[in-house]
Formats: sequence, structure tokens, C-alpha cells
Amino acid sequence: MHTGGAPDPEHLAILSRALDRLNEVFAALPAAPEHTRPEAAAPAIALQAVLQETATRMQDNFPYHHPLYAGQMLKPPHAVAQLAYAMAMSVNPNNHALDGGRASSAMEREAVAGIAAMFGWDAPLGHLTSGGTMANLEALWVAGRLHPKRRIVASEQAHYTHGRITEVLKIPFQAIAHDAQARMDMSALQAALDVGEVGTVVVTLGTTAAGAVDPLPQILRLRERYGFRIHVDSAYGGYYRLAGNLAPQAHAAYEAISEVDSIVVDPHKHGLQPYGCGCVLFKDPSVGRFYRHDSPYTYFSSKELHLGEISLECSRAGAAAVALWATMQCFPLQRGGAFAQGLEACREAALELHRRVSADARFLAGPTPELDIVVWAPRGASASEVSARSQAVFEAAAREDLHLAVASFPRAMFPHWPLQWDAERVTCLRSCLMKPEHREWVGEIWTRLARATDAVLAA
Ligand SMILES: *Cc1c(COP(=O)(O)O)cnc(C)c1O
Repeated sequence: MHTGGAPDPEHLAILSRALDRLNEVFAALPAAPEHTRPEAAAPAIALQAVLQETATRMQDNFPYHHPLYAGQMLKPPHAVAQLAYAMAMSVNPNNHALDGGRASSAMEREAVAGIAAMFGWDAPLGHLTSGGTMANLEALWVAGRLHPKRRIVASEQAHYTHGRITEVLKIPFQAIAHDAQARMDMSALQAALDVGEVGTVVVTLGTTAAGAVDPLPQILRLRERYGFRIHVDSAYGGYYRLAGNLAPQAHAAYEAISEVDSIVVDPHKHGLQPYGCGCVLFKDPSVGRFYRHDSPYTYFSSKELHLGEISLECSRAGAAAVALWATMQCFPLQRGGAFAQGLEACREAALELHRRVSADARFLAGPTPELDIVVWAPRGASASEVSARSQAVFEAAAREDLHLAVASFPRAMFPHWPLQWDAERVTCLRSCLMKPEHREWVGEIWTRLARATDAVLAA
């Protein structure tokens, strides 16, 4: 279970003992045999057959858990998260209201407080969401309520969700140019601020495509002059606040994070959780007033805070909160701790792959990774040839059981590539090295990448 591979029998025994402990509390209830339900009648033999068929269908996947999967943002949930989630599923709590999930709501509040403390906040408003998209939607919704009609701006390298969310919210949006490091360009931002009517700047710490870290300290200085709200989208990169091996620019951005107004981080990206776990935090808890509603349907029975009173989503998996809470008991969010060391190993893996690519004439290297994402391409005479070769190496590598990703970037990212620019964008190879074991696997990844690239360049 640890890496998403074969279930560890010891883990299944641990789960079984945990379920026994959980069910002690219901032991005094009169027996209510399940077989009185029509759908409970499925005999074990049918369950067995259907599960086998389901497993066969699920074979159609890349081996996400394996270090040779070094493509998109996929990281196996830790065993403690899988076990805690499975146990909580037997209760199936709903963190919308305390009536639907008392224990899991309390665990959510504790887990969220732990994440907030990582960012240096001790009393924010915050909660879990189904993912980064919903978390960002809530942050921009609040931003729009505070600054109606004023623009929200974000880098062209920000996640595309911001453009779409502002469309849903009917808030004007402007994309800001980026530099060769894929960071928001400060003169372009300043030009937008000079035009006026900017209500909120979205700062990405860890862009989805390249893992770039926008220059938050400079943006904070611009805030002093122009006055605007800052939302940090660190859905991918938020946990890198704990890493001790960032370069000075990225380190300074993370150190300044407590100065912003809202933050998004996805425990289901780098936080060892299964999908369905994002988090949004607001520095000023009084923004909770925007969530107020007066629904006749909800079952808020007590005067205590129900998470549904401070979130846009209604029903939400309490099991996700339980899994996150349990994971944070095993791996507290501490600098120098095992979890932080894991992130540091990912970054070392990325730097090592980038170093090898930079030193090899078969490749064109992208910017030095700020986190753990590497961007590069096989060499070629023109942008279109490089794009075609990137796609071909991506496919050839997959035949070597090495799974990379491709991503398209604008010419502005690669001012030093000696290319004939016959297109404004170029397709590159991209690798999210999100598993600590990637550090030990860079050699094997390199061997397979080199073989795939040689085959493409020879063709
Ligand atoms: C992944 C990501 C999102 C979207 O989050 P989901 O959890 O996929 O909904 C938004 N912003 C950034 C920077 C991301 O990396």
C-alpha cells in the first residue's frame, strides 16, 4: 500500500484492527443485519467476479506509483492516508455539517490549523475543499466581493483555472507576461497597475507547468504603493515552505507568504493525500461573513461552527479530512522532518536531471528548476522541429517504460536557445519529480531518456 503497489498484508491487518476499535462505540446498538436490504444480497462470488473485472479495467493506467513514472503531477498517497481514508469510509462522514461528521470536522479544523501554522498564520479562516480549483474559486470569489468590478490579474503561467474562474464570477481578468524563468514579469505587472483598477494580484508559488515561483517580495513592495489584495496560488508548491534547499529567490518568496491575504494549497498534490483534498486559507477571518446563508435544508443543529457555513461546497468527504489529519500525525509539517526531507529530495532529483540535460549536446535545457519540475527538449534546428522531436521522445521513452510529460511554452521562456523561431510556442518535455525516490532513480531515468532520444535523433 505504501507506494500504490501490492497491498501490504500487515497494513490490511492494521486497518482491520482500527475498524474493530472504531466499531466498539456502536456495539451496544441492537443488531441490524444488512441482508434485510435488497442490494446487500450480492453473494461473495459476485463481488469477487466484479472486483476482478474492475481490476482488469483499472489496468489501463500508467504506473503512477513507480519512479519511472516521471511525467504529470501524480504522487502516490501515503499508506497512512489510504488506511485512514478506508477506515473513515466505513462511517462515510460528510464535513458539510457537524451532524454529518462531528469527529471528521474537528480533525479538519486541526489539520487546517496545522497547514496555516506552516504559513505563519495562527487564526485564519480556512477549510478543506475537493481540490485546488474549488479552493481558488472561493479565494477569488471573496476577492471579488471585496473589490467588485476591479480586475484580477495573474501571470500567463498561472493555472488556466484563474481565467475560467473569473469568467464564472464575472470579474474582469488580465494575464500578465512572464520572464524567461516563467515568473511573473514585474515591469508588466507595474504597467497593469499603472492603468489602475486592479483589485487582486494572483501570485503563483510553484507554477503548474514549470514549478516557477513568482517574486512575492517585489509584489509586496508594489502593494505598498498601489494597494491591492494578494492571493497566493500554491496548490502545487505550498508545502515547499518547509524545504531547506531552495534557491534564494524562491526562499524569499516563501518566507514572505504570511504577508498575503489568501492562500491555496493542495494536500492531494504534494501532501501525500488521495484526490479530493484542497485547502483555502484567509488571513482575515471576518471574510466568513460572505458565506452567510439561510438555507431551510441544512441540518445545522448546534451553535458551534459547521464547516458548511464557511465553504461554498456543501457535501464534502469527511474521510479526506481524516486521512489528512492521520498523515499529519505521522508527518508533522516541520522543517527538517521526514516530510520536508522528502520534498528536498524531489528538488535534488530535479536539479540533478537539469544538470545532466544542461551538460549534454543532445538537449536544450529550460530554466533551472525552482522546485521539482524540469523542462527541457531534444535539440533541433527550428521550434517546429524541436516540438516534433519532443513528442517523439515522449513516445519513445514510454516504450522504454519511462513516462514523461510534454508541455507547450512560449518563445519568451527560452531566449538563449539557438533556434529558428518558426513558431511562437515550442513543445518541450516536462518531468514532475514528485517522489523522494526519484533522487536515487535519476541515473536510470537518464539511461532510458538517452536511449529514447538517440533513437529519435537517429531517425
Ligand atoms: C493543480 C493546480 C490547480 C488546480 O487544482 P486542482 O486540485 O487540480 O483542482 C490550480 N493551481 C495550481 C498552481 C495548480 O498546480
